[in-house]
Amino acid sequence: MSTFTAGRHFLQIPGPTNLPERVARALSRSTIDHRGPAFARLTLEILDRLQLVFQTQGPVVIFPSSGTGAWEAALVNTLSPGDRVLFGDNGQFAVNWQKVAFGLGLTVETLPGDWRCPLDVAALESRLAADRGRDIRAVAMVHNETSTGVVNDVAAARAALDRSGHDALLLVDVISSLGAIDYRHEEWGVDVTVAGSQKGLMLPPGLGFNALSPKALDAAGSAGLPRSYWDWKPVLEFNERGFFPYTPAINLLFALDEALSMLLEEGLPQVFARHARLGEATRRAVRGWGLDVFCQDPCAYSQALTAVAMPAGYDADELRRVILERFDMSLGSGLGKVKGMLFRIGHLGDLNELTLAGTLCGIEMGLAASGVPHTSGGVGRALEFLANSGADHPNRP
Ligand SMILES: *Cc1c(COP(=O)(O)O)cnc(C)c1O
Repeated sequence: MSTFTAGRHFLQIPGPTNLPERVARALSRSTIDHRGPAFARLTLEILDRLQLVFQTQGPVVIFPSSGTGAWEAALVNTLSPGDRVLFGDNGQFAVNWQKVAFGLGLTVETLPGDWRCPLDVAALESRLAADRGRDIRAVAMVHNETSTGVVNDVAAARAALDRSGHDALLLVDVISSLGAIDYRHEEWGVDVTVAGSQKGLMLPPGLGFNALSPKALDAAGSAGLPRSYWDWKPVLEFNERGFFPYTPAINLLFALDEALSMLLEEGLPQVFARHARLGEATRRAVRGWGLDVFCQDPCAYSQALTAVAMPAGYDADELRRVILERFDMSLGSGLGKVKGMLFRIGHLGDLNELTLAGTLCGIEMGLAASGVPHTSGGVGRALEFLANSGADHPNRP
């Protein structure tokens, strides 16, 4: 039995994503004094450029935390015990966010949705219109549902709130879309945007983010849920001078600084176009294999990941096991009620055409090796598409 595996591991789960070399180098820099002038300069530069990525001119709070922590922060800073939160409910991450809200003593109401489709915004609008007592204090939704590869329409949810004249806050999880799929905190009128470091931002896990609207800041002034570590207020005060009220994750901030440089050097429109191109190539491969993209609405296809439905009677986790063992590649599993029924291909973060080609080759070989009925040649469809698109590539003559 070998103790060494040649070549690099393919981490093609939809987060954490592959760590770029530039980010890995930034992480390994010597830790500096978090109360010194160099650190203050670093923080201020990061906060400035983070706004570009969230597409906002308002404050972005950074926590040393998982995305789950940033979920909690969004809730405890804006709501009071017993407040009703209406959750768009069409995937496992929406379910998990509800559990956090429930644990905090909020009243959780769900707007049920089909896991293979985006949230029904008309249903959201009628529920808001029916809420004459203005019981619902916040609407919470996941932008890119990582468990299914379905994108929910945040701008349309905003429009539903506006049309119904409802004053509920809009809380949006962009943990797997920020830095991969176009997202506009300010233009879409989102009150709290929740993000994490380990997906489109190309960092290791460990940072959580809240982007805030003026209305969210206002709500924080009267929100009654107990909070201490997650309180935005001391962070915002210290941030003004480039500091934090505790020891921040200094090396992750070095890495964030580098990742922001990479995103802005490539250009956000180019980043989004690259993800769209890789997403389309992936879906062509899936169809070429004769398999189904789990998302059934082409307008809601995720450009960050693709969930692939398994043929009936075949276990997605067995396929994933074979692919890991034979080809050293990790793919995402089906979460919650779709466990075993689908596998997920992450195509977000630091990857290009050839990374994706290798990924798709691993899957096609895995399908064959594990005896899953399919048509070979899906990879060819993807390659043909990739060869004929993306003429804006800087290395292309
Ligand atoms: C990954 C993910 C989370 C959870 O983030 P953690 O860092 O694991 O807590 C939440 N929501 C979405 C949409 C995600 O993709």
